[in-house]
Amino acid sequence: MNLNRESPFPTGRAWIELDRDALRHNIAALSALLPKGCALMPAVKANAYGHGAVLIARELERAGVKALCVATAEEGAQLRENGIAGELLVLGYTHPRQFPLLARCGLTQTVTERSYAEALDARGERVRVHVKIDTGMHRLGEPWDKPEEIARIWNCRNLQITGVFTHLCAAGSPLPRDRAFTLAQGRAFHTCIAGLRARGCAVPKVHLLASCGLSNYPELGGDYARVGIALYGVLSSQRELDACPVELRPVLSLKARVAQVRELRQGEGAGYGLQFIPQRDARIAVLTIGYGDGLPRGLSCGTGAALINGRRAPIAGLVCMDQTLADVTDIPNVSPGDTAVLIGKSGDLELTACTLAEQTGTISNEILSRLGGRLERIYA
Ligand SMILES: *Cc1c(COP(=O)(O)O)cnc(C)c1O
Repeated sequence: MNLNRESPFPTGRAWIELDRDALRHNIAALSALLPKGCALMPAVKANAYGHGAVLIARELERAGVKALCVATAEEGAQLRENGIAGELLVLGYTHPRQFPLLARCGLTQTVTERSYAEALDARGERVRVHVKIDTGMHRLGEPWDKPEEIARIWNCRNLQITGVFTHLCAAGSPLPRDRAFTLAQGRAFHTCIAGLRARGCAVPKVHLLASCGLSNYPELGGDYARVGIALYGVLSSQRELDACPVELRPVLSLKARVAQVRELRQGEGAGYGLQFIPQRDARIAVLTIGYGDGLPRGLSCGTGAALINGRRAPIAGLVCMDQTLADVTDIPNVSPGDTAVLIGKSGDLELTACTLAEQTGTISNEILSRLGGRLERIYA
């Protein structure tokens, strides 16, 4: 996949515009929430949630960010190849076949359990790692309540253990049950760290907050906040965003062109399966974007819309792989070459990733991270 297509000759078929000022604003706003001594370690995994990992990482470096998280060793290697110099923590599993990439690219690998640490150690090459602790999510990590087991990882001579971390899994929920669970995760983590230090294990950095953790539980502390979705100016849902103590600004706009405008007589169908059949004479615009670019097919048949000339154009019929039809009957003067906004502002109207997520029954993270490699990405 082409992770970072910053085309020197934008064709303007379908593209992403990044708002540098919004990104800087979000960095400052989130920095203001950081507990004392804590630094941002932004998540730029999944091509920076679709925004373009290299473009975002460069801007973060310019803003003074020193450490980033990626999901895979490959993502880390791509950032290195593009000159990103800071610490890069690989949050996910790296297959032993890819172990050579870690030392070669100077990546920090997450150690999920002792046997994994030992396999990595056995290669005889020095590599930096962070140890993952499971405090209740039951995804990756060693169980928090076995510090004597976890401490044995420190016997791995070739592993330079520079951090220990956990992940909160209910920090976005205001329910009393979830709040109690999150606070228990925090206590479990700090208890585990104390247990490791009491056994003589050096633990230079600890971290547990992601976006919702930083937004709702800054008191849980840590040396890093692994902020992802919030950095891009949204949270998973509008509800979470409304509960956020600081104002965030969406960084990404998604746009496409009007390729053709055509008249339909009442009762004539359009698109696959003729799923759009207007009850009146209608006009439709053909947009140069489709589900192959990450525009959800769930927006079909009026569930979603494009914004054209500051007006709402409901999606007509089924979203295609490369093209989408929009009903522009009520929008005057739509012409080929006009810009259609799928995410972002047009006049007084705005569609956010949260809007699309709500319309398609998912979270904004999925909408953004699926935006495809075919899209051009530019700072507007
Ligand atoms: C993706 C991820 C993050 C970032 O999460 P956001 O909710 O987007 O801030 C942090 N930590 C881990 C382990 C992750 O997988």
